[in-house]
Amino acid sequence: MRSKSLVLTIAFFLVLSLVPGPAAGAPAKPKIAKEKQAVFDWLGRPETVEKFGRISDEIWKYAELGLQEFNSSKLLADTLEAAGFTVERGLAGMPTCFVATYGSGKPVIGLLGEFDALPMLSQKGRVPKKDPVVEGAPGHGCGHNAMCTAAAAAAIAVKEAMIAHGIKGTIKVFGSPAEEIVASRPYMIRAGLFEGVDAVIDNHSSSGFGTDYGVSGNALFSTIFTFRGKTAHAAGAPWVGRSALDAVEIMNVATNFLREHLPLSQRLHYVILEGGEAPNVVPDKASVWYYVRNSDERLEDMYQRVINCAKAGALASGTELASMRVISAIHQRHASKAAAELFQKNIELIGMPAWSEDEQAFAKALQKELGAKETGMPDKVDKLEASTGEYGGGSSDVGDVTLIAPTATIGFPGSVPGSIGHHWSNVACWHGSTAWKGLNAGAKAIAASAVDLLTRPEELAKLRKEYEEYSKTHPYKPFLPADAQPPNDLNKELMDKYRGLLEKALAEK
Ligand SMILES: [Zn+2]
Repeated sequence: MRSKSLVLTIAFFLVLSLVPGPAAGAPAKPKIAKEKQAVFDWLGRPETVEKFGRISDEIWKYAELGLQEFNSSKLLADTLEAAGFTVERGLAGMPTCFVATYGSGKPVIGLLGEFDALPMLSQKGRVPKKDPVVEGAPGHGCGHNAMCTAAAAAAIAVKEAMIAHGIKGTIKVFGSPAEEIVASRPYMIRAGLFEGVDAVIDNHSSSGFGTDYGVSGNALFSTIFTFRGKTAHAAGAPWVGRSALDAVEIMNVATNFLREHLPLSQRLHYVILEGGEAPNVVPDKASVWYYVRNSDERLEDMYQRVINCAKAGALASGTELASMRVISAIHQRHASKAAAELFQKNIELIGMPAWSEDEQAFAKALQKELGAKETGMPDKVDKLEASTGEYGGGSSDVGDVTLIAPTATIGFPGSVPGSIGHHWSNVACWHGSTAWKGLNAGAKAIAASAVDLLTRPEELAKLRKEYEEYSKTHPYKPFLPADAQPPNDLNKELMDKYRGLLEKALAEK
């Protein structure tokens, strides 16, 4: 047997040496299925790159805060509708939430897409120093303008491939408002929007191009605590009054002492929303907005202890804890390894976009301004890594989705390495050519992965098997209280203040 196999091996190499192969040193090109090539071709057309680049820039200009994304949501939903998708709008009690569907029957592949901005971050696009469009106005400091745009581009590319190659199944885009206040996905799940979805492809802007798996980030309760007291003349007869602001301050002192006695995975922060209007009137109403974050296992215990701090504030100040309004409550992210492995293959196939001299110059100028290493834009995609979730951190309402269907996130490039998330420097990155290229690469990875899941049942089966096993030990039990309602009012005043100012400033440019 041994000598026979040796002969076969020699014969094999002889044949190989006669076949014209790739040039010496060049890697062999992997064979790409025709369905996948179709989405690459459609997304690679210059008119596609430009169309979705302009949509992303438009949403960047709107800079709409969570649940005020009327223009952004409409632009994306209209784009999908015009491309032949059935669009349902105003879902799960949120006017800016939509689901766009194409196809029918199994499998059902869901794409997530976000489009909200952050307060206070206004900044001119591709200007490498702090220079707001409108001082104090919102800005896209997390690249969400490019994210649902990438999902929409990918979905339309998949639809075109479904028609051209007779692919069966359903593709859905989940237009998800208010990620920055982690406020849409638990409500969308509660409304049943994800029922029947077999796998979910999430995406997020990044400086790299990659994906990951495992547990990451923190679970979170986002709650507004409101206290009621009694007004009085603050100098004339303060003993008559009971200060609601005192209750807030005592609660904050108590929670700041509480930190000491919480495991390292915790994060705890607040802003005072109302604290009276003049020093000479004892405030009868005050409210404080808390983010209480920890692992899934530790969150509820920590939240109860924060509630105790609120009660202590009311008791000590002689006021009443009038309400605890839960804005949202979410789980940690439990990303699927099988999904991430599949996405990674497509990311490697697509590779990092080639950045122009202009794009490199902008990146280096921004890095210089921030005191970061002047490395320019990256030239390689990221390696696949597991996250441990050990030390907590930020939160995303994608977490809840990861517990109801196998899900992983494709991070696509566009942020200059060294630029800071939720900061003007990130806003500067997500307008113009770098963002266009990054979101296009992201769309290719999303579309290619969707094509794999629609056309290769063995790949989808891997995701489903892993998910079914994991669900046995991590069944989905929402943290969101049954009576919580989407906070459609929360950002209204702020957005009403800046919407017109932004439109005016950008029209003048
Ligand atoms: Zn984000």
